[in-house]
Amino acid sequence: MAVKITDLCITCGACIDECPVGAIVDDSDNPEDSGAYYVYPDKCVECVGHHDTPACASACPTEGCIVYAEGNKSGKAAGTSAA
Ligand code: SF4
Ligand code: SF4
Repeated sequence: MAVKITDLCITCGACIDECPVGAIVDDSDNPEDSGAYYVYPDKCVECVGHHDTPACASACPTEGCIVYAEGNKSGKAAGTSAA
């Protein structure tokens, strides 16, 4: 389970320090080189055990930018409801 940062990311940096497990890297370290911030899916725990909802999505000012990786087809936003 993990969340994913989409190309809506404006590289504002608000999310990166909110992650309790250090799963987020900035655009310069994005292995996909998409110009957005990036969540390592093998590190992200969807904030389970840390927060009620994904902290990165709560901090992100761009609506719909951070989505559940498994829910991507429906574009489910990570900040709006539990997984
Ligand atoms: S959902 Fe939580 S654990 Fe996953 S990247 Fe966002 S802040 Fe980190
Ligand atoms: S808070 Fe949102 S817009 Fe800002 S860097 Fe993180 S994912 Fe991108």
